[in-house]
This record gives sequence, structure tokens and C-alpha cells, in this order.
Amino acid sequence: KRQPPNRKIVYNSQCPFCSVQCKMQLIERKHGQETSYDVVGIENPTSKGRLCVKGLNAHQHAFHPDRLTQPLAKVNGKWLPISWDEALKQIAENVQAIQQEDGHDAMAVYGSASITNEEAYLLGKFARVALKTRHIDYNGRLCMSAAASAATTAFGIDRGLTNSLEDVLFAECLMLVGTNLAECQPTLMPYIEQAKKNGAFLIVVDPRETATAQLADLHIKLKPGTDAALANGLLKCILEGGYEDAAFIQKRVEGFAEVKAHIAKLKLENIAEQTGVSGDVITKAAETFAKARTGMIFTARGVEQQTNGSMAVRNFLNVLIATGKLGKHSCGFAAVTGQSNGQGAREHGQKADQLPGYRSIENEEHRAHIAAIWGISPEQLPRKGVSAFEMMKKADKGEITGMFLMCSNPVVSHPQADFVKNALKKLKFLVAVDLFVSETAQLADLILPSTSYLEDEGTMTNVEGRVTLREASMPPYGEARHDWQIICNIAAVLGKGTDFSYSCAEDIFTELRMASKGGIADYYGITYERLRKEKGIFWPCPSLEHPGTPLLFTDCFYRPNKKALMTVVPNDAPVPKEKPSRDYPLYLTTGRVLAHYLTGVQTRNSASLMARNFESFVEMHPETAKKHGIADRTLIKLTTKQGSMIVRCHFTETIREDTVFVPFHWSGKQNVNRIITGNLDPDCRMPAFKVSAVRAEPLVVH
Ligand code: SF4
Repeated sequence: KRQPPNRKIVYNSQCPFCSVQCKMQLIERKHGQETSYDVVGIENPTSKGRLCVKGLNAHQHAFHPDRLTQPLAKVNGKWLPISWDEALKQIAENVQAIQQEDGHDAMAVYGSASITNEEAYLLGKFARVALKTRHIDYNGRLCMSAAASAATTAFGIDRGLTNSLEDVLFAECLMLVGTNLAECQPTLMPYIEQAKKNGAFLIVVDPRETATAQLADLHIKLKPGTDAALANGLLKCILEGGYEDAAFIQKRVEGFAEVKAHIAKLKLENIAEQTGVSGDVITKAAETFAKARTGMIFTARGVEQQTNGSMAVRNFLNVLIATGKLGKHSCGFAAVTGQSNGQGAREHGQKADQLPGYRSIENEEHRAHIAAIWGISPEQLPRKGVSAFEMMKKADKGEITGMFLMCSNPVVSHPQADFVKNALKKLKFLVAVDLFVSETAQLADLILPSTSYLEDEGTMTNVEGRVTLREASMPPYGEARHDWQIICNIAAVLGKGTDFSYSCAEDIFTELRMASKGGIADYYGITYERLRKEKGIFWPCPSLEHPGTPLLFTDCFYRPNKKALMTVVPNDAPVPKEKPSRDYPLYLTTGRVLAHYLTGVQTRNSASLMARNFESFVEMHPETAKKHGIADRTLIKLTTKQGSMIVRCHFTETIREDTVFVPFHWSGKQNVNRIITGNLDPDCRMPAFKVSAVRAEPLVVH
């Protein structure tokens, strides 16, 4: 029988597993030698005290016995613990040797959208000032780049929600495109449910009848990869029905005439054929959305991770713009970010083409502003690099020979995952910063232990664009160091200590505020003191007196002429999309499950979450299985042009008969990204995870 607790400690923190950033309290109780934990949500403006199963079990990975407690060096294929001084010495020697032999750009930096704003900012500065390399990109390239590119083009600004979540409650129509909130951001679902209770009509666009789609008033179960065409169908019905907002278009929109002319040439029956959605359903969705006085469109990876993902999102923005559903309460766009700092991590300069404040690395004025903050001349600032997957290609070709990798696991997360693994093996020197020896860290020469969400400190920006503060609630585990400290330590041994002499995360934030001042993502008016008092502030916040900007576009858009831009979007992608054929007769699409986060490095180290989903699986319609001689719960072989995997089949009638679905959280032979091709969106360089042609075969013939 458990003894009554003789000690109780309460830690306040924030869940690390998605962009809702639910605030939580972890209560630790000591019962003699035993320790137990309770987790409860804390009331706050976004999650309102709610938590999902991931948040309730997040602490399990933070206290896992396999967590790294000190730096490890690979010696003769074995990991040996070494001191921080020795690790930093080895890094200095190797980086200097690589840059002398192969040039500055031979060192690459690979970042993450799970780190804080301060760390994302510092990583960009580290690459450009300490390493003087143009090669930096991050794992958000695989998640958020299509929506970011689309919103920047259409509105001149890329913020997750263009209004606050409170606005969702009173929208008359909500259209969720390729987003499964119920499993990916579960604590957002009550907003949708309450909106429905308030009378909202819910449209969900998804090839699968997900838990989210089950709530829909209209579920549009389209063929994978045909989102851009569907949006053209919606536009056609809106324009031909005369449902556009003519006054809004006339005053605030550019490009409408070109889009209208393009749409007039399209035939609804062709779009119906292409998407697998009847003309009646498209018309119903278009009319309902257009006639509603207020409405919002949500997009996520389902529409974005395609070879025309950025154009497909732009086309849904065309729908919003044409119907004038912007700049007003309960109207707007929501690019639902997945990673815990998916929004903030894409604003502060760890993208190949970006400087802090969402500035462009190729804009001379922007370069001069940041160079002045960093104490260098604009000429010393490296130019644009290449995207995350293209960095792997450069590693394969020997053009990148060293890499500093922070809190990412590209060996599992990238398409052509085996190719990526081999490319990383070719590096002369790889340093990985992580909590565990991840699949990618296994390839490293050195692994540096970092702090978990309970120990780390800094700001993050949530799905809405609300900046929040997560304070450290306990000291670092073992000898683990904060990511920002690790960056500063390495900069110091490379002779750049004075440029990276921060004593805490807040010091870095003070510099970040100055760097962002006057930029699109302007954080200047946000301080730690304000965040503690106000529990989150929406950027842009250009002065200390400014209240923040929950609702964007009330007066103008952020493009030079202040108007929103509509863009002609073809039905098909410019890069050929994978389509089913005789040899590969089905669509393969990928995504998440409720219990896991990204490549599972953290959630696969949680016993409770692993108990929910311990292995990968493929969802298949029973009719499809019958055609292919496959039995439920048996292992089957999936083959694409890229390769094969063996995976257990789960029957479900919730998926299209021409489509199978595999989640992406597992490694090695269970990693579905091993069989995904490396086709990229030519605009934002997003890999096309959502559409592959595949063959399914039983391992045992029944
Ligand atoms: Fe909240 Fe997301 Fe964490 Fe779930 S995973 S508790 S929704 S932050």
C-alpha cells in the first residue's frame, strides 16, 4: 500500500507537444522512495485549462532513465561520456578544420520548431555570425513552409491565425482543409464544438473521415492531392453565383480580374471528376461559405505537403478574399501549426532565406538593419542558403561536410529517409543536440544533452500568433544545458564569445526585440514583464504601450500597396504529382495519431503514450483489402517507386477506397518516410508527403 506523500512539489509549465501550448501544472509527490506525478491544466486564454493525452503524459519522457545527462563522443563506434570542455574543444577543432579545408559554407546548421523564440533567433545568428555559413534551415520547412509562403504572398504577413481563437466561437461557417484538429491539436476542438452549438456550419475537407470530419455538417472526402482544384471549384460556384464581396474586392484586392477570367475557363464537371467530389457537394460548400456573414478557413499539412501545397493554400486564400472574410471578427485564415513553436520558430531567422523579424535575407535594407544589430557589415552577412532537404542533398554530394543539428531527427522525418541517413553518414563531423540518442543522433560524432520543457526557459508563439512565456520550473537534468547556452558555448570556443555573451534567455529576447523592430513580425513592445502580467501578447506589437494585434487586416494588408493579392492557381501542380497507375494503384497519404508527436523521439519514450500506439499501421478500406487479398491486422507490404515497407493493416471504412494512410512517428523499418519520394514544391521546397502512388500486397496469401 502506498504511503501518504511526505513531500509535494508543484511545477508550472507548458506542454511541448503542439502549437496550442497548453499551460499545465505537474504535481510531484514523494511517497517514501516512490514518486508519483499528477498533471492538471492551468487556466489561460488559449487552452482554458484543457489538456490532451499527450500533455497529461509529457513528463514521462522528461524523467525517462534514457535521457542524456552528459555529452557523449563516439569512439570506435561506441558512445563514451566526456566533459563539456572536451566536447567543446572537439567541436572547435573540427569546425575550424572543415571550414579551412572546405570553406565556410561547408558547415550547415539544422534547426527546429520545437525550440524557443530566443533559441531560434540565436541559431540564425550563430550560423551567420559565428560560422559565417549560408547553410541554415530547419524542420519547419517540412511542416509550415507552404502556408507561410501562401500567406506572405497573399497578405504580406504570415501569422498562424489572422484573428484570435475566440473568433472561432461565433463564425457562421468553418472550413477545415486537411487538418485533423481532434488528433493533432485536441484542445482546440472545444472551439469548433462550441461554434457548432452556436450555429456554425462545419465543412471538413479530408480524404479520411477523421475524428474531426465526424463532426462535420459536410465532409468533402476528396482524392488526395486535389485541393487546389477543389478550391477552383468553390471559386467557380461563388463567382458564377454572384456571391463575391464586390465592395471588398474593389477597395482592398488586387488580381481579382485575372482569377475571374481563369475560373471562367474551368468546367465544374472536370473539377468534380478530378477531385472525386460531386458538383452538388462543391456548390453546397461554396454557397454555404459565401452566404455566411462570417467564416474562417483552416489549413494544415493535408493541403500543404504537396508539390503544389503553397498554390493550393493560396487558392483557399482566394476563396477567403473573394468573399471578403478578412479583417473582421470571426472571419479569417488559420494555418494550424503542428510543432510547439511552429509559429515563432519561423519568424526569427533560422530559415535559409530569412532574417529576424520575418525579414528577407536578400533585401538590402533588411540586411543592413540586422547587420547593425549583430555588429557586422552587411557584406559580412551570408546570402540565402537552401532548404532542409536540399541541405541533405548537398551533404550527399560532399558540398556540406559538417553539420550542427539541434532538436531534430531528419533520418526519420525526411522523405527518402534512407538517402538522408546515408548523406549524413558521409559528413566529416556531425554534432547533435537532443534529449535522447535519436535515430539521427546515432550517426553523430558528438551528442550534447539539452534541457526538456520542464527545465528550459524562454518565449514561444502559439498557433494564434500570441507570444507566451514558459519559465523554467526545475534545474537542468544531470549536466544537460539549455539550447541557447549550448549555442553560446560553441560560439565562444569559435572565438565569438563577445557576440554571444548572454546570461539568460531574457537577455536574448531583449536583442530579438530590437532585431524584430520595424519588421513584419514586430516583437519590440513585448517584454517578459508584460508577458508575466498579460499572459500572452499577439504580435505585431511595435511599442511598449501597444496592446498587441489579435485581429489583423482591419484597415490594410501588409503588402506594399496594402491590398490582398489573389493569384491564378491551376488545377494541377507544376511538378508532376504522383498518381495511381497499374503498378501502384492506390494513393498513400501520411499523418499523425493522437498519442505521438513528430518522429516520436519524446513520445516513444513515454510508456503511457506508447501503450496507446506502440507500432505503426496502415489504414485500409475493407473493400480495397478484399481486392488485394489482405486480411485485417495482418502484416502487409507497401511499395512505392521509392521503396517498400512492412506494416500492419487496420481495416476502416472511414477512408476512401483508393487511399491508404500510414502515420509517420516510427523509425527504421516502420518509418513510412523511407518510401516517400523527394519531390518538392518548387515555390516553398516543401516535400510532398501527402500524395504517393503505392501498391499493397499481403505477406501471406489468403
Ligand atoms: Fe495541449 Fe497540444 Fe499538448 Fe495536447 S499536445 S496538451 S493540445 S499543447
